[in-house]
Amino acid sequence: MPTTGFLIRHVQWPLMEALKGNRIRPYMKELQATQRLPAEALAVQQREKLVKLLDHAIQNVPAYTAFAPDWSNMREMPERFLQRIPVLTKTHFRQNADQYLSQGRQTSRLIGNRTGGSTGEPTHFYLDRPTVERYEAARWFGLSWYGIRFGDPCVMIWGSPLELNAQQARRYRWKERWLKNRLMISAYELDERHLEANLRLIREFRPAYLYGYASALHTLAMMMLRRGMGLGIPLKAVVSTAESLHEQQRQAITQAFDAPVVNEYGARDGGMIAYQCKAGSMHAFSGNCYLEVVDPITHIPLNNGHPGALLVTDLHNTVMPRLRYQIGDVVALSDSACSCNLPFPLLASIDGREDDMFLSRNGQYVHGHYFNHIVRNMDSFRTFQIVQHEPERLSLRLVKEPERFLPADEAKLLAGIRAALGQVSIHVSYVETIPPASSGKTRYAIREFSLTSAPPLE
Ligand SMILES: [Zn+2]
Repeated sequence: MPTTGFLIRHVQWPLMEALKGNRIRPYMKELQATQRLPAEALAVQQREKLVKLLDHAIQNVPAYTAFAPDWSNMREMPERFLQRIPVLTKTHFRQNADQYLSQGRQTSRLIGNRTGGSTGEPTHFYLDRPTVERYEAARWFGLSWYGIRFGDPCVMIWGSPLELNAQQARRYRWKERWLKNRLMISAYELDERHLEANLRLIREFRPAYLYGYASALHTLAMMMLRRGMGLGIPLKAVVSTAESLHEQQRQAITQAFDAPVVNEYGARDGGMIAYQCKAGSMHAFSGNCYLEVVDPITHIPLNNGHPGALLVTDLHNTVMPRLRYQIGDVVALSDSACSCNLPFPLLASIDGREDDMFLSRNGQYVHGHYFNHIVRNMDSFRTFQIVQHEPERLSLRLVKEPERFLPADEAKLLAGIRAALGQVSIHVSYVETIPPASSGKTRYAIREFSLTSAPPLE
């Protein structure tokens, strides 16, 4: 809603800054100032931030203090020094998380977060307010390239919080609607039979942009194209996030919504990493994160242009610094410059998370993240993989977290799956590991049949 956007920009945000010390706007102005710098100046800034972070980590973070003698000799070469630090895998981080918390930081005063991430491995970690605000600022900065302003109305095709009761869910929707100017459409229950009603909701809300999982936006777009229905209102952008955006998905979404489709690349445990510019390139937020690409097996650094395991060092995360954190995506960096003249370095390719939309017994589409959402709130499982072979037949592979495993969680998980998909048969097996596919990626939610035929209509 335009009025809500005006109030958010001119009343709510200034109040949040004055009362709560929120710094999203100043952080965004910092980013905006860097977009006019030459690439070399940007690299110098990044190096200064890296030195500061390494000073901090080596002094305050138990996992890194043993590197102090090396660091004192190599302070002039932070990038080379960083290569001496072992790659941080999710498994290692999960098993040694307390070693990564900065001394003197009390977890009770921090923001706890959980993610299933690219691979479905639940990871728990802590952040502080400024780190979260940096991520938010980077998103608004990327959105600003499309003329989207703070507080502009947004429709999200997103996962609904499963853990809330009815009253909490109402409160959540109210906050989304009036404090954030966002309307949610659940990606866990997209239904072609409610397509007209959903499109009407979107039209009445008059969003400046849509925001959602690539696969959910694509499913919605395909429903519209099959029915020959358009949205009928102009959008500044449709922002696809959290998963790889494939070319045929982009084409369908562009056609259905008649708007530019923008790829956002970030990770809950890695921050906002890159945003697509108007010329179509993915620009890394090099003032916020330092990126490396290494061979997934040997961990030897790869030259730009060669795809490998992406390592992220979040330059502002001083609460729980994770140096060279392997987030699970396969990425290639690029030496090229972009015709848009932004100085931020480019990502040549991103092979990120792949989620499938599942089909329920009664014809609803359920985003694969739904299962991730249930599992990440349990401590019993190290990771999992769910495969829908046919609408009524699935298999579920589980890797136990031996010391925290509760047998009752299996029944809870199965009940959660059936709550979304109906009375389906689920073959459960416990395994030691879930090996990645030949591409090097592990997928946790796979549908094996095509959705080309529309679901049954009553
Ligand atoms: Zn560009």
